[in-house]
Amino acid sequence: MKLIFLGSGSAFTVGADNFQSNMILTDDLGHKLLIDCGSDIRLSLHAAGFSYQDITDIYISHLHADHVGGLEYIGFSTKFDPRCQKPNLYTSADLADDLWECTLSGGMRAIEGEIANLNTYFNVHKVKKNPVIASLDRSGDFLWQGIKFYLVKVVHVNNGYFIMPSYGLFFEMDGSQVFITTDTRISWEEMGEYYERADIIFHDCETSPFPTKVHAHYNDLVKLPAKIRSKMWLYGYQPGKLPDAQKDGFCGFVHRGQTFKSSDLVAAPEVRIAV
Ligand SMILES: [Zn+2]
Repeated sequence: MKLIFLGSGSAFTVGADNFQSNMILTDDLGHKLLIDCGSDIRLSLHAAGFSYQDITDIYISHLHADHVGGLEYIGFSTKFDPRCQKPNLYTSADLADDLWECTLSGGMRAIEGEIANLNTYFNVHKVKKNPVIASLDRSGDFLWQGIKFYLVKVVHVNNGYFIMPSYGLFFEMDGSQVFITTDTRISWEEMGEYYERADIIFHDCETSPFPTKVHAHYNDLVKLPAKIRSKMWLYGYQPGKLPDAQKDGFCGFVHRGQTFKSSDLVAAPEVRIAV
């Protein structure tokens, strides 16, 4: 299996050297799971040598445009290309209705001769919370190519009334436990057990001089215990000069196009695209 970063930048990354932080997980048979589908996806797929025709399965973590803004492109492109099957779309049950009603329906509800809905474009798999509050599966899980993906509730945006639903992924990749946080601040309460259990962590990391509070900032991540930092790759950062993450005990910053194979999850991975 391989985990390919189509981009490793923040939502508002501008320039040719990076894209938003979306990823493709591939298995040994070539099946692909797109992890988030942001507004850069048309360009980031192309830059990595893929096209919409490769997109058969999509996971959506939350409803910010750098994670869902490319779904109109994928939905229309696959629906009107007879070579494509309808992609599977996996997301938490508490996101699916808003994904359509609040995000996609404006542009996608009306097509020639048809009133469309989310199922018109995607085979929707709503991941339900597990009624049994047990570790690892309390936010629900789904299966893709025989691999179980646990949704991990993360704390991204708290508007003062409720926490915006947002879910990272925890899964096994050829024997290694992998945790991808997606967008999150640091919350030991929600994520501590996943930090502990993971063999490798891909963590949201803001580097802006103007911290937003809704993303984990490098200045706070560097205070995590050394044993956690030592298995942590950082992504989701702003353009510009980056701190020396390896000197600070992290694995490093992920570059656009960087590909992690199951055999070298912690060692320096190959670089798919020169950046
Ligand atoms: Zn976000």
